[in-house]
This record gives sequence, structure tokens and C-alpha cells, in this order.
Amino acid sequence: MTKFKEILKKNIYSRDDIIYLISQSEHEQLLFEKAYEVKKKYVGTNVYFRGLIELSNICTRNCFYCGIRKGNKNIDRFQLSKEDIVEKAIWAYEAGYGSAVLQGGERSDPEFINFIENVLKLITHKTNGKAGITLSLGEQTEETYTRWLNAGAHRYLLRIESSNPDIYHNIHPDTDKFSSRIAALKLIQKCGYQTGTGVMIGLPQQTYADLADDILFFKENDIDMIGMGPFIPHHDTPMANAFDNFDQMAEEQLKLALRVIAVTRIIMKDINIASSTALQALDSKGRERGLLAGANIIMPNVTDTQYRKGYQLYDGKPGLDENCNSSRINLEKSIHNTGEKIGYNMLGDSPHFFERIKNK
Ligand code: SAH
Repeated sequence: MTKFKEILKKNIYSRDDIIYLISQSEHEQLLFEKAYEVKKKYVGTNVYFRGLIELSNICTRNCFYCGIRKGNKNIDRFQLSKEDIVEKAIWAYEAGYGSAVLQGGERSDPEFINFIENVLKLITHKTNGKAGITLSLGEQTEETYTRWLNAGAHRYLLRIESSNPDIYHNIHPDTDKFSSRIAALKLIQKCGYQTGTGVMIGLPQQTYADLADDILFFKENDIDMIGMGPFIPHHDTPMANAFDNFDQMAEEQLKLALRVIAVTRIIMKDINIASSTALQALDSKGRERGLLAGANIIMPNVTDTQYRKGYQLYDGKPGLDENCNSSRINLEKSIHNTGEKIGYNMLGDSPHFFERIKNK
């Protein structure tokens, strides 16, 4: 106990301190409380919503963990129309969400790049440039990132999945290079986006030291936004049986993710951190627990119910039978129960982004 408290009190954590804090579950409540204090001081207790639009499950990649990987023949592929995407983005804007997140499988063919560019221009036009737009569409060229930025997107999420190249290569086909992932993340930052990344927590062979290095990677790379969550096996992927008894370890997996979120908040202070849907997949109150451990962003799904089943990255995805209205109502209730407020009609930008730009 004393060692845990001694470390918590420090102003600067060493790598060993971080490893210790994320490895100890016994006193984790103290860690969550400290993270909550830091969050309150640096970003406040408003929770900002980002309306998640899962625009397509068509993917050219074969990531070993992901349910919408190209090699999964057991799902029907869909692609929302331009009108549907724009309508959902406007719904999110009018509902007072800080941004719409356009996420989907990875494609980089000219048709897709044009399609996204046109969607962005339409959303920007219809909302007089006032809607926040975040993209989560994988690795692209500098030209594509720039075109999408100029068309109206201003935030981009690209998880590095793990900062340990060996783990990265273990969970991806040979064609996917860790160095390309990092290069893409740097391009996003260079182009001028508010830049988000993250990792999966609790991957096979991932150690506490790896997770500490993930947090140090976020710090060294001056990241503005973090989205990270527990790894959850999907039955139709090569990693379906990564663990013998995943159901029995689900709560531990969730708590490990919460500790990593908490330490990230304490170290990074003024960034935005998402309380990911994967937390909710492991516990119906998982996202609220994330808020109490230092997260300040939630991404309510605004995709139409009929498409939600087709976009399952992992097993146990929650909210499959909800629609955008019921998702919103359920969330409002449970967030109010945590004592936090929802920052409606505010962009909820990462304060860190403006600090980073100012110091350049
Ligand atoms: N194609 C986009 C969006 C990917 S989906 C891209 O490459 O950025 C968003 C995130 O879901 C991924 O980055 C990954 O971290 C997460 N994810 C995928 N499969 C998962 C699983 N089985 N368990 C937990 N998270 C998973």
C-alpha cells in the first residue's frame, strides 16, 4: 500500500512507476481517484459526445483481431450512401454532439477517396462549417489526408494498436508494417489534424512494460486524443482463441484497461480520452467506469440499427438493437448517475492541441 501511495504522490512517473501502477489491481481505486482529480483540474467534468457513424465494413486489410477483416467471409458487406452519412452527421450536429466520427474499413482507391471528400464537403456546407468532423479511416497518403482536411475534417484517429513492433507484427499480416503505421500517424499530425491514437489493452503476449511504453509513446509524440480499450476476441478471426477462457477474465481485462486509462490521464493531463465502447462490451457500466477513471469522451453510435450487426469488430458489441435516439437516452441517464455533465453544443476540442500548436 505504502509503495503504491508513494508513487501516486510523485509529480513525474518513471517507466518503472508506470509499470507498477498498472500492474497493481488491489489499490486501483486510489489510482482512479487521482486520475479523476487530474481530469477535473485540466479538462473539467463535461463529457463530450462524438456521434459514431460506421459507414462501411468493406475493408482491404486482414488484421488478425478484427471482425470486419477482408478474410471474414461470414459477414454481409455494406456501404452507407452519401445521403445516409450526411443525414447522420447532421443528426449528431443538431443533437448537440461535439463531432461526428466517420469510421469504417480501410480503403484507399480513388473512388473511395472522392466519396469521402464529397461527404465531407456536403456536411461542411450544410452546417456552415460548424460541425466537428473526425475521421477514422486508416492509413492514407499525405495527399489524401490533406484533401480530407481541406474538405472539412479536423480530427483524425489512427490507433497504433501497440507501440511494440513485435506485437504489432504478431497481430497483422506481413504486408502491414509498424513503420508505415507510425509514418501515417506523423503525417496526420503534420497535416494539422487534432491527432488521436491508441492501443488495444490486454493483447496476447503484451506485458505491463509494453503498456507503460504505449503511454510513453503517447507522451513523446504529443498526442491530442486517445481512444483505447480492451482487446476482445472475435469468433471469426485468427485470434478467436487467443485466450482459453476469455469470459472468465473479462472483468480483469476491463480493470486493466481502466488502469491504463487512469495513468494516461495523470501523465497527459489536458488531452481528450475516450471511454471506448469495448469497455461497455465487457460490462454494461464500462463506459461510466471509464469516465470515473479519467476519460472525458464518449462515442455514442448513431448508425442505423439495421447496419450495426454488420459492423462487429469484436464479440459482444453492445447496443445492437438500439437506434441513435435510444442510444442517446440510455447514455444520458447513466452519465447523470455518475454525477458528470454532458457538454452539449460544444466542440470539446482537446486543450492539448492548442497548447501544442501555440508552442510550435
Ligand atoms: N479501419 C480503421 C478503423 C478501425 S476500427 C483504422 O484502421 O484505423 C477501430 C479500432 O477498433 C481499431 O483500431 C482497433 O484498435 C479496434 N478493434 C478492432 N478489433 C478489435 C478487437 N477484437 N478488440 C478490441 N478492439 C478492436
